[in-house]
Amino acid sequence: MLPFENYPDGGRKPIKRVKGSNCRHEYGNDFMRTTGQTRCAYCGVDFTSSFETWLTLTLDHVVPSSVCLAAQIPVELSEDFANQVLSCSACNSFCNRYAPAEKGALPNSIEAFFDLRDRIFGERKGIIADRRKVEFQFFETKPWVPVNRAPVLEHA
Ligand SMILES: [Zn+2]
Repeated sequence: MLPFENYPDGGRKPIKRVKGSNCRHEYGNDFMRTTGQTRCAYCGVDFTSSFETWLTLTLDHVVPSSVCLAAQIPVELSEDFANQVLSCSACNSFCNRYAPAEKGALPNSIEAFFDLRDRIFGERKGIIADRRKVEFQFFETKPWVPVNRAPVLEHA
């Protein structure tokens, strides 16, 4: 299931432009109120579950600005809520150099743009899930445990 399905008009029409400079106070919050979304579209963490989690809230372009620019997609569309998902800062950082695997035809209609968005979202979700798995495996090795630590002497 795609997160866009719960956006106004099923996420298949422009909703409104991202505005403002502060995600948590302005556009990200406006996005949550407009779309009803409260979770990272990639890992599912709920931004309303704790203050620490809420601090990691970002809004992520699905079709990246660079791709939109190259494909001459109007900025009204690339900066619209319909091209955004909520993302935690970790998931956002896992995929910030994304380029589509296959070039494909440039979208020449709003419908084609949303098809491209859905395809790219699926591709990016897979990439992010793989990176999370690698990070989790590294985490599990407890890499922070000090090396060459003298054994703790127990008091007699
Ligand atoms: Zn996430």
